[in-house]
Amino acid sequence: MISQTRDIVQKSLDALLEDEHFLPELQGEARKQSFTSLTAILSTPNHIHKSFLRVPLENGRVDRIPAFRVQHNNALGPYKGGIRFHEMVNEDEVVNLASLMTLKNSLHDVPFGGGKGGIIINPREYTDKELNLIAKKYVQYFSDVIGPDKDIPAPDMGSGEREMDWMMAEYKSIHPGYPYRGSFTGKSVINGGSLGRREATGKGVYFTLRYMMHDFIKNQKNLLTKTDNVFAKTALNYENKPLTISVQGFGNVGSVAALEAYQSTHLQNKVVAVSDRNVTLYNADGLDIPALVEFTMRNKGDLPVTDDQLKEIDVKADISDREDVLYLDVDVLILAALEDQIHKDNVEKVKAGIIVEGANAPVTTEADEFLSDKGIIIVPDILANAGGVIVSYFEWLQGRETQFYSEDEVFKLLFEKMQTTLDTVLPQFFGDPFPLRQNCYIHSVTKLSTILYRQGKLY
Ligand code: NAP
Repeated sequence: MISQTRDIVQKSLDALLEDEHFLPELQGEARKQSFTSLTAILSTPNHIHKSFLRVPLENGRVDRIPAFRVQHNNALGPYKGGIRFHEMVNEDEVVNLASLMTLKNSLHDVPFGGGKGGIIINPREYTDKELNLIAKKYVQYFSDVIGPDKDIPAPDMGSGEREMDWMMAEYKSIHPGYPYRGSFTGKSVINGGSLGRREATGKGVYFTLRYMMHDFIKNQKNLLTKTDNVFAKTALNYENKPLTISVQGFGNVGSVAALEAYQSTHLQNKVVAVSDRNVTLYNADGLDIPALVEFTMRNKGDLPVTDDQLKEIDVKADISDREDVLYLDVDVLILAALEDQIHKDNVEKVKAGIIVEGANAPVTTEADEFLSDKGIIIVPDILANAGGVIVSYFEWLQGRETQFYSEDEVFKLLFEKMQTTLDTVLPQFFGDPFPLRQNCYIHSVTKLSTILYRQGKLY
């Protein structure tokens, strides 16, 4: 995974080295040396903080729980990124996720750097009281390196607003008298969180798809007819038939993206499949997404797994294995669960024409190359799933101003920001030979490189 991000950053730097319009004042040997410096800076994190949290459990045992905070780059502003509570999280993964945050923030003009955290636990195995202690210990162990102007964590898999509230409160206790609201984002609204933060990533994922398939093409028909890529064909044909969509993962990101797709008035969507860690639910005529969302809210986030449960909520669907969602013959597959879901061993079974990365890095390098060679469009994570960090930025701003925006204002600002990025990268995507991921990386790396150069960091 680390190599995937590194490879694309390197390819972007190689392309910029050859681009005579990029930093034209750097020539000859000085240009080469500056690009070598850029590779070194962007491919390694500034800091990897690692601790073993000492946590007394309710059964009397004392555990030492490994935890990380990785700070990749802060050229654009304080480090920013979630804390993952997961038994499989590891240092390499956190480093890669932190570097994706640097690239994502740069791409969307969010004035933050890239960071990420991880705690190696399965949260389902701990009581609420133990989780509270683990969250507080994380803040105690890393309190010197986090803070509103240093490094601002947020929720990630396995954590949510409850954990952020706990962590902000602990930060406040450790630093009495200092500003604390901006120390964590993704908090509950009553504790200074932003309206719309919970839905932001899923809404942004669907907005990206909708903007590409609807708003953008309305003004770009000439551009699209000149290309034969799958996106163009699907986009031009969508008016004649509903767009079929399947969604892997029905958590914070997947369920909101599915609901947005279901409720959309811009496109005639049919969400034909959704999945979680237990099942895939499929209905060729389209699933009743509001009923499924309502069911998960009553059942700790789980989708129905039996015909009786489906009958209880009057939802018609076939139940099958969780992987089946990946191989359906649909127009769009939204990946909103975990990393590495499409890889070299299963990529040949994927039939979707467009893949939207709601999760971070759900498609491996080999799979990405295979799909791109087939003309399948992959809307990359750093483009599609930035809604969370964008609204986190709004939360941080609101905390500073102690002025809070309405939900409508938050979504308006979110969509405007994402649209600005889309309007920058989409015309280039149709005008040059690079896949969309590469295009986004070039845009992001161009900005980071220019800033690092102007800050005198390349000597
Ligand atoms: P979440 O609320 O924990 O939801 C994850 C979903 O994936 C759940 O439905 C989970 O099912 C499902 N899942 C887990 N393992 C699976 C498997 N092996 N096969 C199929 N489904 C599986 O997490 P989230 O916040 O939605 O995040 C999802 C992804 O988006 C993560 O990669 C995260 O890093 C990324 N992301 C999130 C945000 C954000 O703001 N939340 C922002 C950017 C990126 P169960 O409920 O059954 O476990």
